[in-house]
Amino acid sequence: MSKLDAVRAMREARYAEAQTRAGAGRPAPRRAPGPASKPSTPPAPEPTASDEELCGHRNIGGRTCTRERGHAAKTHRYG
Ligand SMILES: [Zn+2]
Repeated sequence: MSKLDAVRAMREARYAEAQTRAGAGRPAPRRAPGPASKPSTPPAPEPTASDEELCGHRNIGGRTCTRERGHAAKTHRYG
């Protein structure tokens, strides 16, 4: 069994234990203190309020970002 498999098995065992505890009516621990994994929430697509509410970021070529203002996307969109 590789180290990765061992870690995964341990995590699953801990999860199953938490599920059992929750099922038994006891308050589940808020969150297992995991060292590594940080849950990455996908950016929620926000509806564009109006055409005027644009990011307006300009790139080197002088083009303007056409995404909504404060867009969650990391990249700007031009054109
Ligand atoms: Zn932008």
